[in-house]
This record gives sequence, structure tokens and C-alpha cells, in this order.
Amino acid sequence: MSTLRFEALKGTIIERSSVIMEPPAPKTSDYFACNVFDKPKMKKHLSQNAYKHILDCIDSGRKIDRKIADHIALGMKSWAIENGCTHFTHWFNPLTDGTAEKHDAFIEFEKIGENLIFESFNGEQLSQAEPDASSFPSGGIRQTFEARGYTAWDPSSPAFIINKTLCIPTIFISYTGESLDHKTALLKSLQAIDKAAVNVCSEYFDKNVKKVTAFLGWEQEYFLIDELLYTARPDLCLTGRTLMGHASPKDQQLDDHYFSSIPERVSHFMKHLEIEAYKLGIPLKARHNEVAPNQFECAAIFEECNLAVDHNQILMDVMRRIASYHNFKVLFHEKPFKGINGSGKHSNWSLGTNTGINLLKPGKNPKANMQFLTYIINTLVAVYDNQDLLRAAIMSNSNEYRLGANEAPPAIISAFLGTEVSTMLDQIESQVSDKIMSPEEKTKLKLNIGKIPEVILDSTDRNRTSPFAFTGNRFEFRAVGSRANCSVALIALNTAVANQLIVFKEKVDTLITKGVKKDEAILRTLRKLITYSKSIRFDGDGYSDSWVSEAIRRGLTNINITPISLEAYLQPKTVKMFEKLNIMTEKELESRVEIRNEMYKKEIQIESRVLGDLAINHIIPTAIKYQTRLIENVKGLREIMGEDYKTLAANELLNIREISEHTEAIRHKVEKMRLERAKANKNPVIKKQALLYAQNIKPYLEEIRKHIDTLETIIDNELWPLPKYREMLFL
Ligand code: ADP
Ligand code: MG
Repeated sequence: MSTLRFEALKGTIIERSSVIMEPPAPKTSDYFACNVFDKPKMKKHLSQNAYKHILDCIDSGRKIDRKIADHIALGMKSWAIENGCTHFTHWFNPLTDGTAEKHDAFIEFEKIGENLIFESFNGEQLSQAEPDASSFPSGGIRQTFEARGYTAWDPSSPAFIINKTLCIPTIFISYTGESLDHKTALLKSLQAIDKAAVNVCSEYFDKNVKKVTAFLGWEQEYFLIDELLYTARPDLCLTGRTLMGHASPKDQQLDDHYFSSIPERVSHFMKHLEIEAYKLGIPLKARHNEVAPNQFECAAIFEECNLAVDHNQILMDVMRRIASYHNFKVLFHEKPFKGINGSGKHSNWSLGTNTGINLLKPGKNPKANMQFLTYIINTLVAVYDNQDLLRAAIMSNSNEYRLGANEAPPAIISAFLGTEVSTMLDQIESQVSDKIMSPEEKTKLKLNIGKIPEVILDSTDRNRTSPFAFTGNRFEFRAVGSRANCSVALIALNTAVANQLIVFKEKVDTLITKGVKKDEAILRTLRKLITYSKSIRFDGDGYSDSWVSEAIRRGLTNINITPISLEAYLQPKTVKMFEKLNIMTEKELESRVEIRNEMYKKEIQIESRVLGDLAINHIIPTAIKYQTRLIENVKGLREIMGEDYKTLAANELLNIREISEHTEAIRHKVEKMRLERAKANKNPVIKKQALLYAQNIKPYLEEIRKHIDTLETIIDNELWPLPKYREMLFL
């Protein structure tokens, strides 16, 4: 009998207590952000001068003065120590999906040789650090001789306390100034879209617009699994997903999990999570069961993009950490279980002005609507022109399993607008022409646009099968994977839209210079863009097979292999766009592609090795053990029943043969897979390695698992070594 599986199962039957956490105060608002060095705390702990300076720098994006940084550090230290902190760390997002921190104690000797220490933290330590960072992926940017990487404080995301450690959000750059993290390019893309959107707003619509902020509201999907069962599955532990497992007779067919009542143990986990999130100022709002069994979602209220990304990264970390209090493991993998829905991180994106206007929300008068249409249409064009880039931004080894399965459309980028907005665009396309409009035409058009008040937008007019869907006041980038750092997707989106807004403004300005009136110049340009980008608009069922052929007819691309998709980053027009907007250099883009190809290859390599080990050392021995038992049985039957045994043991004989066939096939394929690995590893080019892993190794994972999953249905349940789907999927 396989001990680990049954021990684990026994363990889950014994009532598994979860810690019931009490919030620090009954009202959330009384303790929200208590662990964040936010404005009220800055006001309390900083001098008036320092307080004003930091707010000013956050608003304008200017550098903090070094002398004032000393004052800020002093205030931050006193707040942190008041809250029990002994250590501080620069907290950053290296080019993996995780976060990084290196803790330093506040202590310093007053004088070397005398055993007197004091708590010290200065502006220099706050502003910059040089973590020994040679092991972070750099994609070839850092040679070992210049392996230094620097972290530099990002004052736009407030410092926070986790585990009695003061965490200071930072960017991470190389000695030579290239970014080695997600945050640097994200911040630059936010500046770019701010500038481009302000230029369009202030010149065409409202001169009071001085700042445009990109907002992000993420929805985080995840699975929970009992920790003991997780421990008994080496594939989950090492790869984050199950590499084998026959489907459970019941999983999500009955649609009885989605939005149903949250299991008790899970609800304790969620409450605990919310308490910890609120302390960190993360505004968790929604929680519910998702479609697949054991799948859940939480969503935060949208915030400024950079802050929202940090909050999501912190939250994932907190989730992993607190799960074990409740005897859970949290799975962020996009497809931990075959055949049932996987997880995404829908990223809701919008643009808001300092005057309080959401640029993606229809306005109440013709002028406001024209502004709305300007941003909607330019976003569409950006998505159309950069479909390959946007896909590249969301592709990974794990997200490949999700795209085109039953919970996400295939790797074709399209945009859903809904009936009202689509109709508006169609009207403009048919009404405006390059000839000068008559006054009646203008009124008619303006009325038509202006006639659409905000209430008309029907929030049920949703499309859950679109990778990029307009949902009334924002776009929802649904293709983003659950595990990903969503800045990768947002860098691409912000950059593409910023670039398009610049192009748009140039076009309109040219018309204006030629004497065309402003409104008409805008409308004419918009009309052309509507026609130009029409094929990216798709309101139908993105999951249907007919969409795949329709997309080909439209000339849209469909690339479901990550290393091929990543090439989009290095297309000349893309490099030009990133360089022109000063977001990333070609070298930085190349390094990112290199890192992602390397991660892709390594992940498949690990999966392939784990599967090989499980197949050869766990599954085949189990199969043989059971087969031997069958053989003994058949021998016994022959001994007592004579020739009748052939009929009596017909099934056993069949099973004996089948087991041999499967074990032989497994052995054979595992060996062939190993040889393919060896061959791929010899290729000196990372990108080619990644491609070889995609084409020659990844398919074996599926082929081998098929044999194992069939064996699972043949072999005695008592002998099977790994927890089964039906055991793992129901808490
Ligand atoms: P649903 O699952 O129906 O899409 P959720 O409540 O799970 O809805 O998530 C919606 C997300 O969209 C939330 O994070 C919410 O804060 C965010 N959101 C709402 N309005 C905006 C906006 N204007 N800009 C960006 N995000 C928004
Ligand atoms: Mg949701």
C-alpha cells in the first residue's frame, strides 16, 4: 500500500482545523493600511518640509533630494520601530514571476570596538542598495565582471511592513543602467501614456487636464488544495501542476461550484487573507468560488497601475504564506489540473484624468463622447497593430495550457466592444467622410454620439470569451495568466496605446494645419482608424472553432508557442516604438526575450524530468506489482480450474497484457524524451532550445501521461501511489 497517499488522505479526513483570525478592529476602515507608510503616517513622522517634498516628488515624478531623503529615512525608521520592526529591505520585482528581498537589521555600532549599538537607517540606505544580485536573471545584460545590480527607491509605492520588516519598494537596475526588473519599464510606460494622453486631452478636449493616470484592477484566480495531498504529489511540489491524473468522474460539469457558498475552511482562509491585505492597504473587494472545484477568486478595487501591480505581487506572497495556517497550498499555476478550468488574472485597465474623468467612460454630451471615442478607438488601433506584442506579453509555458482550452480563447488577440459602442463606431464610419460636412450632418452626428448617455451601457452586455473586452468603463485584458506579474502585460498595453495616441495627434494636427476644423479633423481621423482596425473587433464566441477560421480570414495571427510568440518583442517596429518612447532599449528587450525563453525551456525541462522520474520509479513499479498479483491469480485459477481458467481469467489476462503494453510505451517514450532533451540542450542558442523543448519535448508530456492515466483506471486503487483528481479536487 502506498503510504504517503493514504497517510495524506487520512490526514485530510481528521478534522483539519484552520486558524480563525480576528481582525485588529471590527471596522475595516479602523485598521486599513495600518502597516503602510502612507500619507497620514508621513504627515505624523516627517517634518513639514520633508512631507511636502515627498508628495511633490511623487506627483511630478521628480527625484527626491538626497538631504531630504535623510529626514524621510529618519521618520520612516521611527514609524517602523514603533511597529516592532528590527529589519528593513529593498523589495523588488526581478524578471521572474516572484518578488525579492534582502533584509538588513537597523543596528549599527556607535564605535567599532565598543559594544554599543544603535538603530540606524539613513537616506542613502533608503534610496539605494546594491544587493548581491548576480543570481537574478539578466538575460546576458550583466556579465559576471560587472554583475552589480542596484535597487533604487520608488517613492510612488509606499513602504510597508511584513513580518516586522520594513519593505521599501524599489526598481532594480544594472551597473550600466539597464532595467533588470518589471517595475522600471512599467513606470516608464506609465509616464509615456500620461504624456501622450494629456497632450490629446488638453489640446482637443479640456485644457485643464494636466495628468492622466492608468488604472489597474486585477482579479486573481487561484486553486486551493489540502497541504498534505500537495506534499504527496511531487509534480505539484516541483512544477505547480499535476503532470498526471485521470479525470474525476465529477468535476465542474454540474456548474455547482461557481458562486456557490464558500466552504467553511476556505472562508477562514479568505477572511485571514483579507485581514492581512487590509493591514497592507490592499483594497480586496470581491471573493467567490470560481468555475472549477477548489478554484476561487479575489479582486481588489482598482488603483493606480504601479501600486496595483505591487499590491498584487504582495498579495500573492501573503496568500502563499498564510495558506499553511489553514493546511492549504495555494496554486497560482494557470492550469494545475487537466480538463478543468484554469486560472487567469484579468487585468482591468482604464485611464483617468486629474479632473476626475474616466476617459473610457461615455460622456454626457457630444464633446465628452468624442473624447471617449478618441480613447476607445485609439486603444483598438493599438491592440490591432500590436496584437503580436500583447500576446507575447501574456504567453508562458503554463499559460499555453490555458489559452484555447475551455476557459480562455485561443491565442488570437481580438477586442470586444458590445452592441452600443460597436453601433456608435459603425455610425461614425458610415456618416463621416472626407468631404466637408454640412451643418445638419454635423448636428446629426453630434446628436447621435451625444445621444448615448452613460446609463445605456448595459453591464450585462459582457463577453467572457474575449481576450480584451470593453466592459462599460474599462478594458479587461482577460488573457493575462494567474501566475504572471501583470506589469508585463501592462507595459505592452501602455506603450502601444501611448504610441498610438502620439500617431493620432500627429494625423489630426496635420489636418488642422491644412485648415480642417478641429472637431472635423478628429472625426475624420477616427473614422479612418475605425475602418483600419475593424478586423480586431469581434463580439462573437471566442471559444468557438469557427472563430479560429474567421480570424485567419481576417488576417489576425494565432500563435500558441511561446518562443515563437516572443519574437514579437524584437520586430523592428516594436523595438522602434519602445526606444522612441524611452521605455526599453533593444538590448533590454533582447534580454527579456532571452530570460523568458530560458524560463520556458527550464520549466519544460523540470516537468519532463519530474514526469520521467514519476513514470519510471513510481508508476511502472506499481503497475508491475499489480500485474504480478494478476499473474499469481491467473496461475492459481489454472491450478484449480484447469483449462477453464482461460474464460474465467479473461479479464485478468487482458489487463496483464494491457499493463505490459502501457509500461513498455511509457519506458520507451520516457527514454525518447530524455534523448530529445539531451539533443536540445546541446543547441547553443537559448531561443532554439526553447523551440526544441516546445516542439519535441512538450508533446511527450501529454503522450506519456495518457498511458499513466489509463493505468490509473486499471490498477488496484490501494496500490496507486499518488493522490487522485477526485481526492484533490474536493476539500
Ligand atoms: P467581474 O468578475 O464581473 O469582471 P470583479 O468585481 O471580479 O468583476 O472585478 C472587476 C475589477 O474591475 C475590479 O478589480 C474593479 O476594481 C475593476 N474596475 C472597475 N472599474 C474600473 C476602472 N474604471 N478601471 C480599472 N479597473 C476597474
Ligand atoms: Mg471577477
